[in-house]
Amino acid sequence: MIIQLDPWITGADRQVLEAALAAIDYKATEVRTQERLYLVAIGKKEFDIRSIGHLQGVWDVHRVSDAYKLVSKKWKVGHSTIEVGDGVSVGGEEIALMAGPCSIEGEAQIVEVLTHLRSQGVKVMRGGVFKPRTSPYAFQGIGLDGLKLWHQHAREFGIKIISEVMSVQDIQPMYDFLDIYQVGARNSQNFDLLRELGKVDKPVLIKRGLSGTLEDLLQSAEYVFSGGNERLMLCERGIRTYEQAYRNTLDINAVALLKDKTHLPVILDPSHGIGIRRFVEPVALAGVAAGCDGLLFEVHAIPEKAWSDGQQTLNFAESRRLIHKARELFSFCRGLDRAFPVDQDLA
Ligand code: PEP
Ligand code: MN
Repeated sequence: MIIQLDPWITGADRQVLEAALAAIDYKATEVRTQERLYLVAIGKKEFDIRSIGHLQGVWDVHRVSDAYKLVSKKWKVGHSTIEVGDGVSVGGEEIALMAGPCSIEGEAQIVEVLTHLRSQGVKVMRGGVFKPRTSPYAFQGIGLDGLKLWHQHAREFGIKIISEVMSVQDIQPMYDFLDIYQVGARNSQNFDLLRELGKVDKPVLIKRGLSGTLEDLLQSAEYVFSGGNERLMLCERGIRTYEQAYRNTLDINAVALLKDKTHLPVILDPSHGIGIRRFVEPVALAGVAAGCDGLLFEVHAIPEKAWSDGQQTLNFAESRRLIHKARELFSFCRGLDRAFPVDQDLA
């Protein structure tokens, strides 16, 4: 059960509520987020929900039988829109596009990609400065100095930054230089990291774990939400299966299902999802058709020269084409009647 409280509930009203919960054998945990105050109450007994709902200081009560609670759609009507700042949002009426290289490489590459994104009206650039690589001998990312350089240029272009945070100790140093923290697939169940991100007043994108179930992902989101941060989005990026023909098995089902289970925005990463450049566009569009709120994909001026993941990275012409088609399809699917200009040099 989720009980939304008046944030200024009196001590006396609180005692009455706690006694009422104890009487029906429910154990309550207080969750104070940056926006609201809740009690998440767990118990088994049948009871009349109105006996809680009418108490002083209680705004609203909902039964939520799922293992995850605050991220569930059972209590919150409609979808959450996440404000990133300066009018940029995720989960609103426009498709959220976040694109950029797998790894940030240096000034020239940063400016090339920013120029491309600005020309396409893309408001968020992705890129890793701390890279989770399978081999310790592979390129590990250019680190915090790279993030600072990137941030300086991105601000000049008016473009927001999403970047992966790999450890608790990097949260604070990165804070002033990014707009969205990305939790990578390999850290999807790093509960210490998730709990700490609950304390941060910046949005968080959580990727599905390499072999994570959708319930695992929703529970990870619950960690951040109950830790205090409601500005959350989920990302399907493919899972490990027996199939070897492509990098991961991109689970389009997950998009449709997550949109039904949670009020949080759902993002699709087709680049890591399939891992093969020429199939990134079709699977991205499949995700849009399935109802995702946005795409996170890899783009580079010369993918063949990218320092990591070039095999799944789009060049600028391919990126333009995907952006155009994704916007058209998104508008069609959401029943919006919007016209987007077609680029002159579209192939
Ligand atoms: C990434 O987006 O840079 C990345 C490493 O992806 P994932 O965590 O999905 O493997
Ligand atoms: Mn990558």
